[in-house]
Amino acid sequence: MGEPTIDLLKMELPVEEGRLHLNGDGVKTTGLVLIDVVNGFCTVGAGNLAPKVADKQISEMVEESVRIARLFCEKKWPVFAFLDTHHPDIPEHPYPPHCILGTDEANLVPALQWLENDPNATLQRKDCIDGFLGSIDKHDGSNVFVDWVRNNDIKLLLVVGICTDICVLDFVSSVLSARNRGFLSPLEDVVVYSRACATYDLPLHIANTLKDTIAHPQELMHHIGLYMAQGRGAKETVRSRQLISSRRIEKQRPIRSPSELFKRMFLTPAVKGASKLGVLPEVQERRGEEKNIMFFQAHV
Ligand SMILES: [Zn+2]
Repeated sequence: MGEPTIDLLKMELPVEEGRLHLNGDGVKTTGLVLIDVVNGFCTVGAGNLAPKVADKQISEMVEESVRIARLFCEKKWPVFAFLDTHHPDIPEHPYPPHCILGTDEANLVPALQWLENDPNATLQRKDCIDGFLGSIDKHDGSNVFVDWVRNNDIKLLLVVGICTDICVLDFVSSVLSARNRGFLSPLEDVVVYSRACATYDLPLHIANTLKDTIAHPQELMHHIGLYMAQGRGAKETVRSRQLISSRRIEKQRPIRSPSELFKRMFLTPAVKGASKLGVLPEVQERRGEEKNIMFFQAHV
């Protein structure tokens, strides 16, 4: 799918932008949730659902997830990591076999393996898409994720990982519903950090050559995942520069008019003073001045 088409769709389905600051006065207890940053989804050639070739969105997600995880662990803030893991005899429809228990596919990517031995981190294997459901003990009904939120007195949840429109979206949706029903006290806010999220790429022309497979254009599906999560209660998106600098969330404007879209699509690095024209963060990113990311925030 061409970039102008995706830009038009983004204009019709805007995701609001903001900044999340995690330091400063009045910091809420913040927990980090890493979703499936495992070899089976992230490491080139690792399995049926791993990228076949180097993937920029996924490698950037891994890099940013590792950076955030290190920051949280240095601060001794709670970290919870889901690892997609399946019994070899129990397939997960409609997906091909992946992340089989005991294989390297079901392990954290090499850059995150240190997390296994970090006392700050809780690792949870899950055999389903939705990590909230995957945290339920099949024998006694307890939920290790709910316990983690309660035991750490978490009020703000920062969510990163893969896939934006599948495991991340389902988890965020369940968490918001559980919070609304009072299961997740004292949790107040859920924030999705878009640049530390990614999804897989399966263009239409390739999907058409495969049996029982539907297209999954990466950039569009990533955006739709963010948009859907926002629709479940998200109010903001944020940039990363200030991620760990303080806790406030500031609003940024979404694209709201064709003229804004024009600026975004056609301004180039050669255009001087573009930021003074109020151009969008995406343009600034093209100019190499600032990386834009998106977050959602969902309020009670
Ligand atoms: Zn799975």
